[in-house]
Amino acid sequence: MAMPDQEITCVDCGGNCYPLGWYPEDGPVEDGTVIPYRCRDCLDRWDIVIGEPEPQ
Ligand SMILES: [Zn+2]
Repeated sequence: MAMPDQEITCVDCGGNCYPLGWYPEDGPVEDGTVIPYRCRDCLDRWDIVIGEPEPQ
């Protein structure tokens, strides 16, 4: 189990990305769960696998 990041840095534009369909009050999720993030600036979507390193 791991807590998803509440925001990540967009690889493309350096903006902040926020999770879709997950909120801090939802708590930790199983390792391997895919949480989609949406970049606030360029609106790209990033699918992050929880429990694995962020893409660099
Ligand atoms: Zn972006």
